[in-house]
Amino acid sequence: MLPLIFAAFIICFCSFSSLAELQSFQQPLKSDGSLSFLVIGDWGRRGLYNQSEVALQMGVIGEELDIDFVISTGDNFYEDGLTGIDDPNFYESFTNIYTAPSLQKQWYSVLGNHDYRGDVEAQLNPILTQKDSRWLCMRSFIVNAEIVEIFFVDTSPFVNDYFTNPEHNYDWKGISPRETYLANLLKDVDAALSSSTAKWKLLVGHHAILSAGHHGITVELLQQLVPILQEHNVDAYINGHDHCIQHISSSHSLLQFLMSGGSSKAWTGDVDWWNPKEMQFFMMVKVSCLWRLHKLK
Ligand SMILES: [Zn+2]
Repeated sequence: MLPLIFAAFIICFCSFSSLAELQSFQQPLKSDGSLSFLVIGDWGRRGLYNQSEVALQMGVIGEELDIDFVISTGDNFYEDGLTGIDDPNFYESFTNIYTAPSLQKQWYSVLGNHDYRGDVEAQLNPILTQKDSRWLCMRSFIVNAEIVEIFFVDTSPFVNDYFTNPEHNYDWKGISPRETYLANLLKDVDAALSSSTAKWKLLVGHHAILSAGHHGITVELLQQLVPILQEHNVDAYINGHDHCIQHISSSHSLLQFLMSGGSSKAWTGDVDWWNPKEMQFFMMVKVSCLWRLHKLK
């Protein structure tokens, strides 16, 4: 599956500061004022299930676009996150897979539900950045690149099912009490968006808000997050979780819904009907990535 690719071009230069509680990282633009990056999700499978093939094509397209960074929408390590900071899966699914020169850039990652099934704090530990300097994973944070501000939001704690369904164990250390965590997170996102003067505002989370894929919509995010995004004119919400790529334009707002969750083990034939006037793009393939690259061109 091809990663979703964005290229944003300079509109204006302006300086500003965020007043929010969320930690903010500065991302410089290219000398011509442009910015480009790849977005992938649902990937860490020790190279299996087409992860290595996708990584190869990411390297090609990353060089073509001269990307500045990579975004991961979560489910970084399957099946159950990392067992700890010394889990070899970090090397086997990340360092040793994304080896192309063009991918030796900063990676900004959020956590997915599978990441919460392991030692979730391991992925957040700066020791992993010492092991591979590209790695940066936090629950929620901001990347400020002048023309675009990207707000990364930890969406797994919003999902009621994970707290009521005993099928899987989740590592909720650092989340509880859940209600307080979510209330503070929403307040911080609201404040950060409110103070942003960036031309483009993007929000990244793991779970879909709208999706024609297997997992479908996430009601909790529709109810709690979307009103904030609409109030602050966020341009796009970007996520993974469903193993496909999609673009849905809601009839009710200008907010665009972009999914990039097909970076390994893409699903086939698991699509729910969606209003074709809103469904801009849907791709779920298991053919070679080279073909996908040609399709892109
Ligand atoms: Zn997921």
